[in-house]
Amino acid sequence: MMDEKKLKEEIEKRRTFAIISHPDAGKTTITEQLLLFGGVVRQAGTVKGKKTGNFAKSDWMEIEKKRGISVTSSVMQFDYAGKRINILDTPGHEDFSEDTYRTLMAVDSAVMVIDSAKGIEPQTKKLFQICKMRGIPIFTFMNKLDRDGREPLDLIGELEDTLGIEAYPMNWPIGMGKGLKGLYDIYNNRIELYQREDQGENFLELDENGEIKGDHPLKEESIYQQVLEEVDLVKNAGNEFDEAKIARGDLTPVFFGSALTNFGVKTFLDAYLKYAPAPSAHKTVNGTEIEPVQKQFSGFIFKIQANMNPNHRDRIAFVRICSGEFDRGMDVFLQRTGKKIRLSNSTQFMADSRETVENAVAGDIIGLYDTGNFQIGDTIYTGKKAVQFEKLPQFTPELFVKVSPKNVMKQKSYHKGIQQLVQEGAVQLYRSYTTNDYILGAVGQLQFEVFQFRMKNEYNSEVVMTPMGHKIARWIDPEQLDEKMSSSRNLLVKDRQDQPLFLFENEFAERWFEDKYPDVKLTAKL
Ligand code: GDP
Repeated sequence: MMDEKKLKEEIEKRRTFAIISHPDAGKTTITEQLLLFGGVVRQAGTVKGKKTGNFAKSDWMEIEKKRGISVTSSVMQFDYAGKRINILDTPGHEDFSEDTYRTLMAVDSAVMVIDSAKGIEPQTKKLFQICKMRGIPIFTFMNKLDRDGREPLDLIGELEDTLGIEAYPMNWPIGMGKGLKGLYDIYNNRIELYQREDQGENFLELDENGEIKGDHPLKEESIYQQVLEEVDLVKNAGNEFDEAKIARGDLTPVFFGSALTNFGVKTFLDAYLKYAPAPSAHKTVNGTEIEPVQKQFSGFIFKIQANMNPNHRDRIAFVRICSGEFDRGMDVFLQRTGKKIRLSNSTQFMADSRETVENAVAGDIIGLYDTGNFQIGDTIYTGKKAVQFEKLPQFTPELFVKVSPKNVMKQKSYHKGIQQLVQEGAVQLYRSYTTNDYILGAVGQLQFEVFQFRMKNEYNSEVVMTPMGHKIARWIDPEQLDEKMSSSRNLLVKDRQDQPLFLFENEFAERWFEDKYPDVKLTAKL
C-alpha cells in the first residue's frame, strides 16, 4: 500500500475521460493518435477490429467476432506528460446501447469529436446530453480540417445553439481543405503551420497585436487577413475563457484540427490535460461525498460484460475506483449483500489485449472476473464504514420488441434468463397491461441481439423477438390512469415495478394524447 502522499500524487495524475461522437467523425483516428503520443505503439486501425479484422489476440464474445465490433466499452490506459490517462470507449452506431450511456457515469470529463463538414449529428447530441446532466467538463475537437468543411463561425454558432453550451475557440483554422495553412492558436498566442515537421519551422510567434512577427509569406495571403478579423471578432464579441465554467460543463473549449494528418492533436492534448479534472468526490445515496484521496477503497460497477471468453463463460465487471487504492488479492465488501469478496482475479484493458492488474488508484478502471456476484450499480468498499454510491440513472428506452420463448415447454429457463439479464441491466422489461405479453426496451438494437445470444448461450433458451420499432416511453401517475386511454397508438404497459407507462407511436401520437387529456401528466423517466 502507498502512503497518503504517494496515493495523493498518483490520483492527481489521473485523467479519465470518454470520447463522444457520431459514427465516422473520427473518434477511432484521434484515439490512435493519442495512444501514439503515449508511446503505446500499435498498428493503425487496431482500436476497432472492424477496419482490419484483427481479432487474433482477442477472445471477445462470439457476437463481437461475428459482427467485427466491440460490444465492450473498452478502456485504454497510457502515460503522457506526467499524467496517467484512461480513455473509455463509447461505441456508436448499431453498437449503441445503455452501456454507452453508463460509461459516461464513470468518467471525469468528455471529449466531443465533431466532423467539421457535418457539424452536430444526432449521436453526438444524445451523448452530450448525458455529459451535460452530469455537469462534467466537455472539450470539443472539430475534426477533418484537411477537408473542405463548414465555416468555423457557423460551426461554433451551431454548437452553441443546438447543444445549449457556451463555446470558447482555443484556436482558429487558417483555411481548410486544400487551402489549409494552419491554426491561429489564440490560447497559446502563436500560429501552428500545417506542414510536416521536416519541412521546417512549425510555429510562428505573434507580436503584441496578434500578428506574425517579422516577414512570412503567410502575411501576404488574403486568408490571413480574414482570420485576423475573425479572431478579432471572437476575442471581442465572443465568450470569455472561464475555468470555473469549463469545470461545470457550461463552457466548452473548442479546438480545430485534423486527426488523420495528426494536425492540432498534440496542441489539443496539451491544453486538455491542463484543464481536465483529476478524479473528484463521488456522491453516495445519503448525500455525503467520498473523497478520492483516503485509505478506504471504494468503487462502483458501471458495466458487466458476459462471456468474453466462450470457453470459460466468464463475466467481467467494470469498476470505476472512486477512492483509495486497489491491490490485487484484497478483500472488499459488496454493499448490496454485505458479502466479503476477495479480488484476486482482476484485469486491465487494452484494445486488443488484457493483462492482470496488480495495483490501481481512484480514477482508474479495473475489470473483475465475476462468477455472478456483481450487478450493475453495485458498490464495493473496504473498511468498517459501509458505502453506497448514488444509483446509476436508468435511461429511457427508445426501441422495443415483443419477446416469447421459441419452445413453450422451456418456460423455466426462459424466465430465469430474462430475470437475470434484466437485473443485470442488459435490457429493460415491460409487460402489456391486458395480455401480460413480455416487451423489451433498449436504447440500441445491439442490446436485443446480445440479449438473444446470451439467452441461448447462457440459459439454453431460444427466444423469438418481434420488432415493435421506435416508441416514446412516458410514465403516467397510476391515480390518473384510465385503461380506456390506451389505443393502438399508445400502448399501455407496466414496468418491473408495476408502474404504468404508455409507449407512444411517435411525437404526433403523444401530442394528440396531451391535447385530449390536458390534465394528465406524462414523464419521460420514472
Ligand atoms: P469513428 O467512427 O468516429 O471512430 O471514425 P473513424 O476514426 O473510424 O474515422 C472515420 C473515417 O474518417 C475514416 O475513414 C477516417 O480515416 C476518416 N478521418 C478521420 N479523421 C479524419 C481527418 O482528420 N481528416 C480526414 N480527411 N479524414 C478523417
